[in-house]
This record gives sequence, structure tokens and C-alpha cells, in this order.
Amino acid sequence: MVNVVKKGLVLEIFPDDGMVGVLEQNMKNARFIWNQLLSKYNRLRKQFQLHGYPLNANIRNFNMMLKMLKVEFPFLRDGESTSQQQVFRDLVQAFNRFFKEGYGYPRFKSRNNPKQSFRIQKNGNNIRVTNKRIRLAKLGYVHHHTSKEYHKLLKNSKINNVTVKRENGKYYAVVNITTTVKELEKTGENIGIDLGFKKLATLSNGKEIEQLDIKKEEEMIKKYQKKLSRKKYMSENYKKTLKTYHKWVNKRNNKIKEKYHKISKKLVQNYDIISMENLNIKGMFQNKKWAPKLQRINLYKLVRMIKYKAEWYGKKFVQINRFYPSSQTCNICGYQYEDLKLEIRKWTCPSCGTKNHRDTNAAKNILKEGIKLIS
Ligand SMILES: [Zn+2]
Repeated sequence: MVNVVKKGLVLEIFPDDGMVGVLEQNMKNARFIWNQLLSKYNRLRKQFQLHGYPLNANIRNFNMMLKMLKVEFPFLRDGESTSQQQVFRDLVQAFNRFFKEGYGYPRFKSRNNPKQSFRIQKNGNNIRVTNKRIRLAKLGYVHHHTSKEYHKLLKNSKINNVTVKRENGKYYAVVNITTTVKELEKTGENIGIDLGFKKLATLSNGKEIEQLDIKKEEEMIKKYQKKLSRKKYMSENYKKTLKTYHKWVNKRNNKIKEKYHKISKKLVQNYDIISMENLNIKGMFQNKKWAPKLQRINLYKLVRMIKYKAEWYGKKFVQINRFYPSSQTCNICGYQYEDLKLEIRKWTCPSCGTKNHRDTNAAKNILKEGIKLIS
């Protein structure tokens, strides 16, 4: 079986000074529109509510508000129009996530965020990617570097949109394409995964995946952060140090990304059903010592990779209810050990006498519950 999928190919781009100005202006515009639309929506919604009407955060309403903005701020009429529309589409998606998926309320964008971006929708001939350059209508040409594999993909796939982003001092074009992937062979094996902080993951077959080792990178990031704070903002010395600081941030992020790609690929190769838990449980993020590190290693990213790779390659991904007591339930007899404390790693089931390893037992329950949900 072959599946039609959407992929984002990340190309590093090398804009010259003139182009940097153009890209930065577009990021600024996208941020401006996002913030203006958000504040307009917040204001209008209150007024509507006073008169007993709801104001839905949908495409139609935001499109109307964008038209109002263009009257208020005429300079917006000269901007790249597909990227302006993209902003309210992203905003609508952010609201959908808030209303339907439990994400936080959409926030204003700050110019100080190390990540900035804007997106251009493919419309006729406005986006073209050759082996060396990307042409974005109204913006111009920009050089990029990419692999042979990506060259081939870009040549043979339909382009949907391009997101241009600046992240930690580098510029990227994320080219979203529609392509096909071949499903992986079924293995007849299923797996439950318990994510944690001592070990990155414990599997229902008893195997463990070690926590990421990013100590060196973290130390260097801290060191250069300190150096930056002692230098005059945007002086020559500051800029030089900032470059080194960004280098280490990128090193750390790439290390995490590569490892997650490896783990997720292996999982979908080896197993047909992959069952996981909703991340927010077990007080993982309440643990003061671990919460900051957990945030940096961004386990959500790993979960998302496993999820989309499972979909691509014809495997099943299932996430079980966050209130399911996977650690406290004996996977053999179903006895619930209500008082199981977080620091207890091994326990003997009072009902059937099974010696349970905390995380392996949890992973086994996660698998059981996942299979139940699917069938
Ligand atoms: Zn038991």
C-alpha cells in the first residue's frame, strides 16, 4: 500500500543582506497582522457578547477583520497577500486547538522570540524551487543548500506552501509538499510506551530507552548566556558571542531532533500498534527539578513524530486517556494499588503476588488499554 502524505522539507537558506531585509519585513508584517487580528477579535468578541451574540473564531470572521485592518493600515495592501491570509488561517487553527484540544489561549507574538516566520501559499507560479535557489514571488531569489534526496523529492512532488523562518540566527525555508510513501511491512508485534524522566522511555517488552545526553550543550549554552548578559547589547562583541551561543542552541536542538527521528523510525519499523499515554500525567511537569529539562527536550515533539510516522507507514498509533491509572494497576490481575508513591520503583501485587517493575508494568497496561481502544 502507498499513502499520500504531506511532508515539510527543511532547507537552510542563505539570503544576502538585501534579502534579509525583505524577509525580516515580511516576518514583521505577519507578526503585526497576527497581533492586530488577535486584539481586534478579543475586543469585538466582548462587544458581541454584550448584545448576546457569539463571535466565532472562524475563517470568515477573520477574513472580514483582515479587510478592516487593511482600511486602518493601508500599507498592508502592498504586502504579499497569500502570507497575510495564512496568518489568519494559523490564528483560526490556534483557536481550534484552544477550543477542541486543550491548548492555551492564543498569545501575542513578540519580536524578541528567537523563532520568527511567515508562510506563503502556493498560488500558480509564485513559488519555484530549483537545485540551488528558491524563488518567492514579490520577494525574490534566495540560495539554499539541500541533499540529493530532497532534490529528487522537490522535483517530483506538488508544493503546497513555503514557510520562511528565522530560528536561533539561521534562516530556513520549510517547503511543504504532497508526496507518497510506501507502507512498512507488518511485524505482528505491538508495543506500549511509558515516557519518563529517569529513562526517556520504558517499553512494554521490558526494554528501556536512555535519557538524552545534552549536558555538554546545556553547559555551553549557559556559559554563553552569561557572557551575553555582560556585553553591551548589539555591540560587535555581543554579536560575536551571540553567534557562538546560537551555535550551541542549534547543536542541542539538532541532537534532540536526530535522536527522536531515530527512535520514532525504529518504533514504526518494529511494531504495528504503538500505544502511548497522554503526556501531562504523573506530575512529570510538576516535578520542579525536572520540569525545565522536560520542557527543553520537548517530549511532545517525539510523540508527534511517532504519530505522523505511524500514519505514513501504515501503522496504528493510539493515545490512552490521561486518567487511566497505568502505574497503579497490576498488569496481570488488574488490582489497583491506590497508594503507590512516585518514588517506589518496584512493588509486589498484594492480590496475585506479581513483582512489578513500575515503568514496565505501566507500559504493559498502556499497551493493553491501547489495544482495547482500537478494537
Ligand atoms: Zn496482580
